[in-house]
Amino acid sequence: MSVLSQKTLSKKVSFEGVGLHTGENTSITILPSEPNTGIIFKRTDLEKNNIVLPNLYNVSNTTLCTTITNEHGVSVSTIEHLMGAMYGLGIDNALIEINSQEVPIMDGSAKIFVEKFLETGFESSQEPIKLIKITNEVSLKDGSKYISINKSNVSLDIDFEIKYSNSLIGNQKNKINVYENNLTDIYNSRTFCLYEDVENLKKMGLAKGGSLNNAIVVKDNELLNSEGLRNKLEFVNHKILDCMGDLYLSGYKIIGSLKCSQGGHTLTNQLLRKIFADKNNYTIFEIKEKSLPHTYIDKSILKSIA
Ligand SMILES: [Zn+2]
Repeated sequence: MSVLSQKTLSKKVSFEGVGLHTGENTSITILPSEPNTGIIFKRTDLEKNNIVLPNLYNVSNTTLCTTITNEHGVSVSTIEHLMGAMYGLGIDNALIEINSQEVPIMDGSAKIFVEKFLETGFESSQEPIKLIKITNEVSLKDGSKYISINKSNVSLDIDFEIKYSNSLIGNQKNKINVYENNLTDIYNSRTFCLYEDVENLKKMGLAKGGSLNNAIVVKDNELLNSEGLRNKLEFVNHKILDCMGDLYLSGYKIIGSLKCSQGGHTLTNQLLRKIFADKNNYTIFEIKEKSLPHTYIDKSILKSIA
């Protein structure tokens, strides 16, 4: 199966679980869909105006999770781990039916989504994928937070660092190539928070569904989760997963080299808005050739098209 033609799932899959922030039990069903339809959310608990598109201009809130809202004020929140899973696996088209406002948090990572998608399998179409190639450097700063994206030949590199005064989290840095690396550690990395922030989140009406089953909680230099970390860079790896999910709100695979220090949902969305505000920053192209190699490894071919 070529990674250069559009993919969907081979059959529908369902997930059930609690929403991290709403605390509501939710079920979602992800159905295969036609080429060139993209990813679509449909709120099945509402009879009308229930389509919400995960595009960067529909992002309405980035406080602790990414929320999208359509023109009728209908929202879907905490979409980023599911979107990250679909971005990494190259799922171009899918209809996501959801019976509540928030995507279930599952285990706090994309692990359960990814494993189920891989088990279900994919259906490849004849339609070529579209790619967004960054052609100019775009960057943003917010105090000590920083994000930038620059050209790259054929890859999407994400180079992310976090700096926490908490000694257990501390400074972590990782760099991945989204299209070539094994992303298991990224998918499996869970959302995290500081113990002292939990009370504040609850006061803000957030994290109602939060528990040690779906988040890593750090108290001073101690992990409250008895099972420990899943990988040594789990904190920064989770931020990379969030970043992948948020980048998918551009609609297509990106070719570029992204660097981020201490950013998150807000900065990633601002970066996308800045990229697409100026046509000189990117080009969108389709790969029309048939029978291209199965991976991006034959870079000479892709380069000639790009
Ligand atoms: Zn996250």
